[in-house]
This record gives sequence, C-alpha cells and structure tokens, in this order.
Amino acid sequence: MTKYDYDLITIGAGSGGVRASRRAAAMGKRVAVIENLRVGGTCVMRGCVPKKLLVIGSHFGDDFEDAAGYGWTVQPPAFDWPTLIGAKAQELDRLEGVYHRILRESGVEEITGTGRVADAHAVTIDGPDATRTISAETILVATGGWPHLPDLPGIEHAITSNEALDLAELPKRIAIVGGGYIAVEFAGIFNGLGSQVTEIIRAPQILRGFDEDVRDVLAEEMEKKGITIRRECVVRSIEKTATGLSVRFPYGDEIEVDQVMYATGRKPNTAGLGLEEAGIALNAKGAIEVDEFSKTTVPSIYAIGDVTDRVNLTPVALAEGEAFVRTVYGSGPSSVDYTNIASAVFSQPPIGSVGLTEDEALAELGGRDAVDVYLSRFTPMKYTLSGRDEKTMMKIIVDATTDRVLGCHMVGLDAPEIIQGIAVALKCGATKAQFDATIGIHPTAAEEFVTMRDKRGYD
Ligand code: NDP
Repeated sequence: MTKYDYDLITIGAGSGGVRASRRAAAMGKRVAVIENLRVGGTCVMRGCVPKKLLVIGSHFGDDFEDAAGYGWTVQPPAFDWPTLIGAKAQELDRLEGVYHRILRESGVEEITGTGRVADAHAVTIDGPDATRTISAETILVATGGWPHLPDLPGIEHAITSNEALDLAELPKRIAIVGGGYIAVEFAGIFNGLGSQVTEIIRAPQILRGFDEDVRDVLAEEMEKKGITIRRECVVRSIEKTATGLSVRFPYGDEIEVDQVMYATGRKPNTAGLGLEEAGIALNAKGAIEVDEFSKTTVPSIYAIGDVTDRVNLTPVALAEGEAFVRTVYGSGPSSVDYTNIASAVFSQPPIGSVGLTEDEALAELGGRDAVDVYLSRFTPMKYTLSGRDEKTMMKIIVDATTDRVLGCHMVGLDAPEIIQGIAVALKCGATKAQFDATIGIHPTAAEEFVTMRDKRGYD
C-alpha cells in the first residue's frame, strides 16, 4: 500500500485519458479520472463523432440527386435540421453512457469537477459541491485543446465548431474563417445541407501542409459544389446588422451572413491547471513539454494527447495513453512511433493521406531525380450514370533509388477507408514493385493504387 489515495489520477476524461485510466485500472491500479465537461472529451462530444454524423447527414442531398441517374424518382427531398441535431444529441448521450459504463466496469473512479495540479503528487478538485485535494503516485494530464479565436472587433459574434454542432437553426448563409481540417469539413456539411457557404482563408490555398495536388483538387471540387473560397483574405471586423452579421474586409467590402464560424486552430488546455507553479515546463504555444515517454519535467507527472500538441489526432492520443501505461505499469519505457500516421479530412469529397507529400519527399531526398510521382484522376463509377461532375485523385510518391513508397494521397469517395489499408503497407515499408505485384479488386477505386504504372513527368 502506498501513502497516496490513488496510484493514478488522470485529469481529463477524453479519448486519451479514458484509455490510459482504464488500462491502468485493468492492471490492478487504483485510478481516479477527473472531468469538468462530458466524459468522452472533444472527439466524442464536440469533434470527430458528431462532425462525422453531420458529414454523413449532409451527403444525402447528393445521393438523392445521383439516384435519378439509376432510374429512381425521388420526391423533392426535404431536410429538417432539428431532427438531425436531435438524433445526433441522442447518439452522444448513448456514447457518454457507454463511456461511464466502461469506466465503472474497469474500476476507475469518476470525479466531476475541475482538476488543478497542487504539487508533484496532489490534485485539487473544484467540484460542484466542494473543493478537495487528493493524492496519487502518478498524475496524468490529458486535458486536450480548445478552439482559439483571434482578437478582432466583433469576434464575440462568432461561433466555433463547438456551437456549430448545436445551432438551433441551420444558417441560410455562413462564413467560415480558416482553411484547416475543421473549416473545410464544416464548409462541406453546411453546403451539403443547403447553406450558402463562404470560406475565408488568409493563405492562397486551403489545407496548408497537405500535398499540393490534394489541396488544389479539393478546392476545385468544393468550388464546383458552390462553396465560395475567398483567398488571401482576412476579416477586419464583424458587425451585427438588422438582418444578420456583416463580415468586413480591409478594403471596405463586406458580406452579410447569418453565422460566422471561426476554425482558426486550437490551443492546448493548460491555463489554470497549476502546471507552471508545479514545475511543469510549457512550450511557446502553451503546450506541455514531454519526453518520448510522455513524461513532463516533473518525473511523477505525465501528459498525453492534444495538451502536448504533438500530433493532434484521437488515435494518437489513444496510442500515447497505451504507451504511458506500458511505461509506468507494464513492460517498461514505451514510446509511440509517429511515422506514417494516416489521417483523413472528412471534406466533400474526403481526403485520405499517409506519408510524405511530394514537396516533403523532394526536400528530403534532394530533388526531382530522386522522387517518382504517380498520379491518377478519374470519374468514380458511381458518377458515370449519375453524371455528377466530381473526380477522384490518387497519388503515389516513391523513392526512385530504393523503390520504397513514401506517401499515398487520395481525394475522392471512400478515401479515408482506402488509405487506412494503404497505411499498413507503408508501415511495412512496401515498395512500388510490391504495390504493382498486388492484384487489384475489380471494379473498385482502390485498385488504382496497385495499377498506376506511368510516372508523372516534369516540364
Ligand atoms: P488547423 O491548424 O488545421 O487550421 C487552422 C486554420 O486557420 C489554417 O488554415 C490557418 O491558416 C488559419 N488561421 C490561423 N489563425 C488565423 C487567423 N488569425 N486568421 C485567419 N486564419 C487563421 O486547425 P483546425 O482548427 O482546423 O483544427 C485543429 C486540429 O484539430 C487540427 O490540426 C487537427 O489535428 C485536428 N482535427 C483533425 C480532424 C481529422 O482528423 N479529420 C478533424 C478536425 C480537427 P494558415 O494555413 O494560413 O496558417
């Protein structure tokens, strides 16, 4: 028996915190997890899960249109936003119940309140009823992140993805500021449901950091669907008018909309947690500094997930939680391999991506002779009869010397599902010859990844 109340106190019951807590409890550890919002965290309550339900819901409009090409007569379809939002809320309630049950059945004690690190082994909880302090041999900080909005006149009129998921009414006109994952995903959702969408980006193109062809192809498809992208554009102010919100630009022009949504990045949730007072170092962005084993500068305190601002994806937080448990309670020091992490953007059409972009490969390998690029663009079979003007793009980046596949990127129907499988091949170090030796599944879009033979030339 140790001198502490618990073996582990986790602050934050999101994906990473819950996974680490229940794995530790399964190993016989006495674990408490503290949460001040809903169990499940960003991914389940305010992010991936509700967002994807809305993406699915918003795609039916296209599906009804496409059905006509296959002989279906569809009565003019009608959409009811409150029904979708209500059904989504019910599903989140169900999932929250599942999370509570999982924690209970694993023997993890749930504590409602806001945790603050008091010292290397103590956490103070501001709960609904009282403030108290509990102790543990190890503390895990898994408090995630929160949307960050720039400071400008009228910013109080803007919403974030948190509110966008629960609006009472579907906005007829919406401006979305930002060109990252969240902005393009919500642009697709609102456009699909019938809103007039203007996406405002300060850069020349959406999705900085993604492969250039991916960025260009997605932007083209979004614009074909009717989304307006205002490039190299910043908002000067937002003003309430009698009929909506006026978004004003530096050169005096403006647009009027019903909602303005900011998706300009997220900040780690470190404020008010007592971290610096306890000796935990933060980096310039306010994220907790950790070593490869997720240990902070205080040896008994660890941190995982978005609060550490490494790779801000749910499956990465889960992997960090698992590695933390192995490190502290299991087989010994265990770190996460951050190479070739596949990711998806649930834009419309969606993106799947794993490995290096073409530009990264060129920079890493030292020029065009060192990198082979294969690119294919085609109309997916579903759209041949429906006549929809939407193309799929697939791209393979290969090390010309070793033949190893360095990156695969796709924009088009089912891209996230396809790239997940391709990611296994990249993790195994597959070569282009091995891709070519793999017999395709016909007729699929995925088979294109094993049948591309022509290298893209450069002018
Ligand atoms: P991102 O960091 O992806 O994008 C932020 C965007 O906002 C960029 O386009 C950036 O422009 C722009 N921006 C930043 N500051 C300003 C400003 N002051 N004025 C105007 N534009 C600005 O953030 P998101 O909020 O989209 O997403 C946060 C994180 O959540 C992602 O990094 C991702 O890890 C995760 N996520 C993952 C998803 C998935 O896996 N499908 C889905 C949603 C989120 P610029 O490019 O010029 O810097």
